[in-house]
Amino acid sequence: MKFFELSEYFQRIEQTTSRLEMADLLHSLFERAGADEMDKIVYLTLGEILPPFRGVEMGVSERLMLEALSKATGIKLKDLETAYKKTGDLGELAFESIRWQGRSLEVSQVYKELLDIAQSRGTLDKVMKLISLLKGLSPLEARYAVRVVIGRLRLGVGEATIIDALSLLSGGRSAKELIERAYNLCSDLGLVAKRLKEGGLSALEHFKIQVGYPIRMALAERVSSVEEIIRRLGRCAVEAKYDGFRLQIHKEGNRVEIYSRNLERMTEMFPEILSAVQKDIRFNSVIFEGEALAVNEETGEFYPFQVTIQRKRKYGVHEYAKEYPLVLFSFDLLYLEGEDFTVKPFIERRRKLEEVIPNSNTLRLSEMIITDSAKEVENFFEDAITRGLEGIMAKRLDAPYTAGSRNFNWIKLKRSYKGALADTIDVVIVGYYYGKGARAKLGIGGVLVAVYDPQTDTFKTVSKVGSGFTEEEWVRLKHMLDEIRLDHRPARVDSILEPDVWVEPRYVITVNADEITRSPLHTAGRTLEEPGYALRFPRAVSFIREDKKAEDANTVEEIIRLYQLQKKVSVE
Ligand code: AMP
Repeated sequence: MKFFELSEYFQRIEQTTSRLEMADLLHSLFERAGADEMDKIVYLTLGEILPPFRGVEMGVSERLMLEALSKATGIKLKDLETAYKKTGDLGELAFESIRWQGRSLEVSQVYKELLDIAQSRGTLDKVMKLISLLKGLSPLEARYAVRVVIGRLRLGVGEATIIDALSLLSGGRSAKELIERAYNLCSDLGLVAKRLKEGGLSALEHFKIQVGYPIRMALAERVSSVEEIIRRLGRCAVEAKYDGFRLQIHKEGNRVEIYSRNLERMTEMFPEILSAVQKDIRFNSVIFEGEALAVNEETGEFYPFQVTIQRKRKYGVHEYAKEYPLVLFSFDLLYLEGEDFTVKPFIERRRKLEEVIPNSNTLRLSEMIITDSAKEVENFFEDAITRGLEGIMAKRLDAPYTAGSRNFNWIKLKRSYKGALADTIDVVIVGYYYGKGARAKLGIGGVLVAVYDPQTDTFKTVSKVGSGFTEEEWVRLKHMLDEIRLDHRPARVDSILEPDVWVEPRYVITVNADEITRSPLHTAGRTLEEPGYALRFPRAVSFIREDKKAEDANTVEEIIRLYQLQKKVSVE
């Protein structure tokens, strides 16, 4: 496929306001793509060069892009800067300033050049390659290539949308299940698309876990009492819930990679874990998971999350590793010596994990009991809380590892759930309001926020949030939102309210609320007969959560469950 044709698709996708039409466009795009370019087209559509776990970044600042654009077009840098200040969109600026019609390059050729830019080290090298790329592109192509380079494609296409379009390609419900399964096992949608195009559904039936491709993490549901845990799981495993970084470790011989909950590559951030895995694990190939947190070596006590989080850094890694060494509490085994463990029952995985993890200083096993007594669970919970842990995690003994899904195979109980709605909720910002009164001078007075509905792959509003941020944070937030503003409602946002400015659903914030109420103004949980759900007295308790993607916001279903929990609590 020519890159020009891909750009035309991008243009149409960008303009649509319907989620269904978006999937149709993608379907037609995938139909026309060749097998060897499928992966590249999928990455580019998501605005990426490679999946995030590969840890390849473009490393091109706006400044660098302006320079390259100036050199490629012969337009003075100053003039470009002025024009850029007006539009705020480098893609648009490239579209307007490039004159020639290009040589009509193949997608694979443009992709190769983009990858080459990402992989070159020096700034000068990058600029030279950018210039040569821009010189080969027509205005429309340049618009999208530039946006990819600076990480702002904003097509509004999510992974679920791509999966839907890929299922249309092969037809039927089972197609979707197979695609999702393969994606859950490798986190590389491009790879899955390519295999599908090459070998059809049967290629996906035989899809296997590979070391170096993170498995999408299993997540936990929540409940509000120990009784409910026993009611749901019966005899089960109960573990301490550690509040740190969830890490998935991949080891093949001496090669080790570490991935975050978000499936980003974090290998260099945790040198002590890296070397402990290399030194202490005797098996050749293994994938396992655990929670890493800073422990005070003098007292053996856990540091609070605020301390652990400081280890998430690019610079000063070794100094901080000395000051706040991490302990990895391992809790699951996913793969060992060529064998897929995700399909085995939890208890079998755990027993094997006990053989794999040596219980050294850095690598330990999560504390665990097995019980069917609510009283014992209660004691374990109280003890965990007293020792500064977050709560407990209960696990169904016979459940497989359900990659990429949240269900009651794992149940978390934190202290705060035991009260009324003391729990926080993660929501995604879909728009903002200019604000009145004192806030008007900031140009932002509140944000419209939504939760995720995985069934329809849309974002449904639950609240307007106008408090919790400092003045400086509001200013920063407005700046960040302006960079992703859209002139129409995003295709995947379902809303009755109309904010002053729509933005691409990208940023997640954590909010607190007094309770959840029913409201005709919001679309979360709304049906033909019933009103939606809304947060009462919401306030932000975090700035943007960099560790969460829009789809990691809480779901509509979770809001409904919280609503029901809260009803239960107030009756008691
Ligand atoms: P939450 O982030 O509140 O949904 O809780 C789930 C998270 O708890 C997981 O993603 C892990 O990062 C973390 N966690 C801490 N201890 C454990 C444990 N023993 N088993 C599983 N997950 C744990």
